[in-house]
Amino acid sequence: MRPARALIDLQALRHNYQLAREISGARALAVIKADAYGHGAVRCAQALQGSADGFAVACIEEALELRYATLRNPILLLEGFFEADELKLIDQHDLWCVVHSTWQIEAIERTRLNRPLNVWLKLDTGMHRVGLHPAEYREAYHRLMASGKVAKIVLMSHFSSADEPESPRSAEQLATFAHASAGLQAEISLCNSPGLLRWPQLTPRQRPDDWVRAGLMIYGASPFEGPQEQAARLRPVMTLESKIICVRELAAGEPIGYGARFVTERPTRVGVVAMGYADGYPRHAPSGTPVSIDGRRSRLIGRVSMDMLTVDLSDLPAAGLGSRVELWGREVGAGEVAAAAGTIPYQLFCNLRRVQTLYSAG
Ligand SMILES: *Cc1c(COP(=O)(O)O)cnc(C)c1O
Repeated sequence: MRPARALIDLQALRHNYQLAREISGARALAVIKADAYGHGAVRCAQALQGSADGFAVACIEEALELRYATLRNPILLLEGFFEADELKLIDQHDLWCVVHSTWQIEAIERTRLNRPLNVWLKLDTGMHRVGLHPAEYREAYHRLMASGKVAKIVLMSHFSSADEPESPRSAEQLATFAHASAGLQAEISLCNSPGLLRWPQLTPRQRPDDWVRAGLMIYGASPFEGPQEQAARLRPVMTLESKIICVRELAAGEPIGYGARFVTERPTRVGVVAMGYADGYPRHAPSGTPVSIDGRRSRLIGRVSMDMLTVDLSDLPAAGLGSRVELWGREVGAGEVAAAAGTIPYQLFCNLRRVQTLYSAG
């Protein structure tokens, strides 16, 4: 069997989730959209079902997958509904729902529901993606409350730059939020992973009954480029690993792989690893991207191909055929690989496919 696989440590997932609560001092939605960032939504939800205050997903299809797997925890739809028809399913399956646009409020007013909705009313505080304009926020709140269709409203916004501690954007967004929501007595949800990891410097208004939305951090990766005190407490959940399936000795001056882009600078022992971009390993990772071979760090050399990639074994004489190669995990951080490849750990995880996924401590 092909040795490429992803090991998912559900104990680490639970540890990171508890950390989100502890650091924020608030309730936490475990964000498991996009198949739990590639980690497997149902398995991750099952691991957290006894402890999670709720889950968050992108759309009703993702929520129904969890309900059909008999998960009963609250589930928030982060973009609400895309068509008014979905309100029937939201009602039937008791889902929580973001409202970010006036047409959604109109649809709620028009729909007959069996029970009142739990709405997270989204304010655009400067990210300018979705959310109500500050000038229309208060009216939207009162209109929903008056509709008779809503049991509770959580005041919600989203940071654009919480992962950049030097940026003034978050403080500006907080000020916009405070102004637009002044006088509304409700629970609040502002923070994603970088926001809550920087708590309480960032969000002094957060109370125990408020909410954070923890995504990347529960998978144990840091949303920050540099070191960060709280992020250092996270435990990686995914280990992507494979094995050396072929070894060859090359003289100096020999090219390796597609495009002959890498040419050996010295006599080089090359290991071929069963892992490629069809598994989700980034094709743009350049020579020099770190890998770990039998627990010792080395580097990628040559272009990543669809099913294989090549690594430098020259300084690892004990490594050879069958050696374990970690692409990311505890020995090589997903953040390091992402930085080398010019992307973010979010995308590395989401791109994972084809490899066998194995769960432990479930
Ligand atoms: C995906 C998402 C999150 C989670 O963000 P992380 O940075 O992964 O913690 C939080 N809020 C919203 C609205 C999202 O779409």
